[in-house]
Amino acid sequence: MNIDNYTAAALSAAINNGEVTAVDAVTASLKLIHNNASLNNFITVCDIYALREAERIDSEIKSGKRFGKLLGVPIAVKDNICTKGVKTTCASKLLEDLVPDSDAEVVSRLKSEGAIIIGKTNMDEFAFGSANEYSAYGAVHNARDKSRVPGGSSGGSANAVAAGQVPLALGTDTGGSVRQPAAFCGVVGLKPTYGAIERRGVVGLCPSMEQVGTLSKTCDDALLLFSVLSGRDDFSALDGNVRGKTIGVAKEFLSSECTDGVRKAFEQAIQALKSMGANVIEVSVPSFFAGLPTYHVLSSAEAVNSFRKVIKAYPHTELLGAEVRRRMLTGAVVTDGSNYDELYLKAAKVRTVITADYDSALKACDALLCPTTATTATPLGGIIDPHKSHMCDSYLAPVSLAGLPAVSVPFGSEDGLPIGVQVIGKRNAENEILNIGKALMNNAV
Ligand code: GLN
Repeated sequence: MNIDNYTAAALSAAINNGEVTAVDAVTASLKLIHNNASLNNFITVCDIYALREAERIDSEIKSGKRFGKLLGVPIAVKDNICTKGVKTTCASKLLEDLVPDSDAEVVSRLKSEGAIIIGKTNMDEFAFGSANEYSAYGAVHNARDKSRVPGGSSGGSANAVAAGQVPLALGTDTGGSVRQPAAFCGVVGLKPTYGAIERRGVVGLCPSMEQVGTLSKTCDDALLLFSVLSGRDDFSALDGNVRGKTIGVAKEFLSSECTDGVRKAFEQAIQALKSMGANVIEVSVPSFFAGLPTYHVLSSAEAVNSFRKVIKAYPHTELLGAEVRRRMLTGAVVTDGSNYDELYLKAAKVRTVITADYDSALKACDALLCPTTATTATPLGGIIDPHKSHMCDSYLAPVSLAGLPAVSVPFGSEDGLPIGVQVIGKRNAENEILNIGKALMNNAV
């Protein structure tokens, strides 16, 4: 079988009704992972575990004992999400030998619906980064163009879906780490509402922003995976109908820097929504440009605080990479002495303004639309300037500060590289934004 021809929903249906076995699915997935090992999407591949699990599921299906929303579906899990008995390194040398003795809540939920953990994906060390180049286990090569980055920090997860190795993957998103690699790799990346998914067992460093997110080929699969992870069953099937919906475009989104190709794709996305009967209105998010610096002050401050606990258990900080050190230093500086008031507290106050601005823009419409990133996937080794690398999160970080759900869907391309468009919703409006995302993908240029 060719696993790349299946969505997760179709694969699970085929396994549930006996057309395909879980062993077939796992074997096909492992073959693509090993044949394309040079992409470096995985830090650990769970060959033996996944095949045994598939055999067990197949025999339970035969005896009529097993059903599940993700039955027999191979799934890749970012390496900062704990997996029982399987190394969880956070792409850091510091945690090279960490083997958790229990699963993260999200992993337990996946397993109870019959999903099979196929491996742990590469990422930026401790999820700091936007290119996956800050991994202690080597860079990831974008499946569309191996000389380019997949984005980050969930680069391995997005790229594994893009390469067809798995239909689904888990990522985490604190300031864009699911949505940005989704855009660079040409897949769907959902960051749910803050708090929508239980985070127990996720090695997170920024507790006020971090969320587990989904990577998939379609919006329907994102909804399916989100329903498993959130334990919610109250969603309606996506029909891709946006007639009568109001979509807001903030004028600040249009004045932000982006490449010609990204701007063109974004304008085409607006046209596509109009042609499907949506009303597109102009709104304003005056604090938009404050989002990125505010994010960096707050996320670094939270990270240095959370890291104290990690360092107690794993004191060999000399094993940490340059970007993690930079964040720790930033976090220490912004909370030190009088900086605490001038930088940290100020940023915390600006955050409330940003949140209020997004909320008020969303009062006038059903969802906001903007590009996901300002550029397409950048060349490997190309980001030497950490400031430039941080800049590519300007459309993403403010959404995280506001705790809103957002999805990046592939829409158009520039020089053969995928472009992402971001749909931002009201809190708990995942169903709505995924439906708008589906409508866009149905009309992608
Ligand atoms: N790219 C952003 C950063 O470097 C986001 C990271 C994340 O969401 N984990 O901080």
